[in-house]
Amino acid sequence: MEALVLEKVKELSLRDIQLDETLGPHDVRIALHTVGVCGSDVHYYQHGGTEPFIVKAPMVLGHEASGTIIEVGAAVKHLQLDDRVCMEPGIPDPNSQATRLGIYNLDPAVTFWATPPIHGVLRPTVVHPANFTFKLPDNVSFAEGAMVEPLAVGMHAANKAAIKPGDVAVVIGAGPIGMVTALAALAGGCSRIILTDVQQPKLALGATLGPITPVNVAEQSVIEITAELTGGWGADIVFECSGNGRAAATIFEPLCPGGRAVFVGIPGAPIAYPVLAAQIKEARVEHVFRYAHVYPRALALMGSGKIDVNPLITDKFTFQDSIEAFDYASHMPPASVKVQIELPQ
Ligand SMILES: [Zn+2]
Repeated sequence: MEALVLEKVKELSLRDIQLDETLGPHDVRIALHTVGVCGSDVHYYQHGGTEPFIVKAPMVLGHEASGTIIEVGAAVKHLQLDDRVCMEPGIPDPNSQATRLGIYNLDPAVTFWATPPIHGVLRPTVVHPANFTFKLPDNVSFAEGAMVEPLAVGMHAANKAAIKPGDVAVVIGAGPIGMVTALAALAGGCSRIILTDVQQPKLALGATLGPITPVNVAEQSVIEITAELTGGWGADIVFECSGNGRAAATIFEPLCPGGRAVFVGIPGAPIAYPVLAAQIKEARVEHVFRYAHVYPRALALMGSGKIDVNPLITDKFTFQDSIEAFDYASHMPPASVKVQIELPQ
């Protein structure tokens, strides 16, 4: 089948590739409809990955996907032909200790689309376990369905933060993950988000998504603005979604005493961690790696209208223009958030 293949660093081709698509009794076969381009896909394209995830052989990219079921395994009960679905790209070993403990995202044996050496889904069809395939509500489009994967990271971060109704949260970084974390935090009960970045167009878009105060940290102080909005107390939660070392080192500054800090963004290199600043506030610190058990909740929030991801889908390309899409995503204009690729139906 024809797929978008990362041959090696900085070399993509749209070409025929032989892929195993044997349907087991607990699997479904899906015709892909929409696949989002993720920062990690672009990172593999531009840099070949970061240890321990390095591209060593040609690999199909793409893991943020929605599509239609075209074949159902004999033992599958909850899905049918023609169901519109989105898929969770990480498949753990069902018998592993991590899976049995409910932390299947941390299973060392997990296989994850477009994480070497596992092929992704920028291709016409894929076979996937039915238990990691989720039916879209009727009012959720394929494009929105392909946003569930990044949104799931924000949902997991919101869970880790143990949000209480009325909390005020700072989100550092207005990229796709910062945006979906802000949406998940608001849906989870935050009364206000203070969103920081240095790119004004991203902040302007973020400010339209709900009770979100944009702060351009190139010109404004997030500490001062947070203090103003919280009567001098500080934010209950700070989500670090930039992965930027300098920004991450400031995570405890706007935090209130006894607050929660969540590291969501993936840094490209080790970052400075100000222990004393965390100690003085007895900050509770959490880390996020992908997500577990959040797809149904993300879809429920989209279906009920509590979360609208449409404003984040800023750019669309056809499958035939996939390479162009990746070149575009490698040099994203600041007003762009999410690039998606649509497959021919
Ligand atoms: Zn992703």
